[in-house]
Amino acid sequence: MDCCECGDVFETESLCPLCLGKIPATREICGSDVFLVKRCPEHGEFRTIIWRSGPEFRGWKRKTGATRTGECQTSTMKGCPFDCGICPVHRKNACTAVIEVTSRCNLRCPVCFADSGREAGWDLGLAVIEEHYQRVLRASGSDIILQLSGGEPTVRDDLPAIIEMGRSLGFPFIQVNTNGLRIAQENAYASALRQAGAASVFLQFDGTEDGIYETLRGRPLCTAKRLAIERCAENGIGVVLVPTLVPGVNTHNIGSIIKLALELSPAVRGVHFQPVGYFGRCPDTPENANRLTLPDVMRLIEDQTDGLMRVEDFSPPGWENSLCSFHGTFLPMPGGGLQALTGHGAGGCCSGEGEDAHAVSFTARQWSAPPAASQDCCCCDSAGGETGTETLDGFLERVKTRMLSVSCMAFQDAWSLDLERTRDCCIHVVAPNGKMIPFCLYNLTSANGDRLYRGNEQCHKG
Ligand SMILES: [Zn+2]
Repeated sequence: MDCCECGDVFETESLCPLCLGKIPATREICGSDVFLVKRCPEHGEFRTIIWRSGPEFRGWKRKTGATRTGECQTSTMKGCPFDCGICPVHRKNACTAVIEVTSRCNLRCPVCFADSGREAGWDLGLAVIEEHYQRVLRASGSDIILQLSGGEPTVRDDLPAIIEMGRSLGFPFIQVNTNGLRIAQENAYASALRQAGAASVFLQFDGTEDGIYETLRGRPLCTAKRLAIERCAENGIGVVLVPTLVPGVNTHNIGSIIKLALELSPAVRGVHFQPVGYFGRCPDTPENANRLTLPDVMRLIEDQTDGLMRVEDFSPPGWENSLCSFHGTFLPMPGGGLQALTGHGAGGCCSGEGEDAHAVSFTARQWSAPPAASQDCCCCDSAGGETGTETLDGFLERVKTRMLSVSCMAFQDAWSLDLERTRDCCIHVVAPNGKMIPFCLYNLTSANGDRLYRGNEQCHKG
């Protein structure tokens, strides 16, 4: 469909979703929508929605500076995105480094970035994990979110030892990306993770209804998720709920997820939405109607929280490319309601310059458990007095303990891939061979299921 009257076009580059050849691409603004348009000489034109309706695209998009300081681990040979590792044209240090410590999993999810749960699983050896930690230190330093992932990392009995090793090498913030089953099932497991030094759990949490889990994960999991959250809370591990959003499966449940997060705060520190992308075999071009863009998610949040959180409360990212994510920080107010501490309108106090340098440490602090002495809710008990007479100490206490972050990361697939975005990527997977590869490129597959990186690298899995 050709519709563009405004003709406002931004040049970038992409890959053909069929042959993975590098091709030019444009972001075309059509009214308030934006499409990524590209043409492969062999396979024709692809037109993928990347931004639907407001907030206005031009006002949202902002340039972030190149901040690469660490060591390059590959050189320019075939050009971006074929030299990842990180190569010299990459613009950002990692803010999150993901190490997949195993390919084994205790669920068999129809939806899985990591393509886990296959019969012949592998575990990364401890010596290899130590090498990976050292690579991350050389490429990005220790001031990052170090995420241990899989597969399902908790299927390894030595996960606490892996966490301890990371802490002893100097990573202050280690997060475990998990489905929470083992934490729920084993009484002492959360305590073992905490004692080893885990600060936070990135908890797969697709909704508040068992039907959602039956569709996405093959079995009802609501009870296990609640138990996992309780166990983390008891042991001082911050919990981030991570829903994979699939249109028609759990997009109606966004408001309920946020309301539950508010109810379970401060045990729950944040909600991080991830709209599903098209990875794996996908013979037909995915319909634009089935794509959730960042503005779609912002509007669903506003609609389903009855305006408690509004579209204008959310900010573009301070670190990665502004088309990759949004985030908001909210403070429960005495007497009900929320105050947004972020926003892309005039009201936000945390948006804009200056945020960049603090993005990683701010997120790490927010996603960790609040100080143990402050677990009691100070905004709804009587100690703080009436609304309007709250002391400064009371306010600061409330900020420290009760803030909830709500964020969303728009992953790119072979259709939506925009190489300007991937060069700005700061979420890097450490591949089994030690190369650090932007998350979306690591997981990218063609329409035929061919992979750009995952599984294609020369493996040294130990
Ligand atoms: Zn092609």
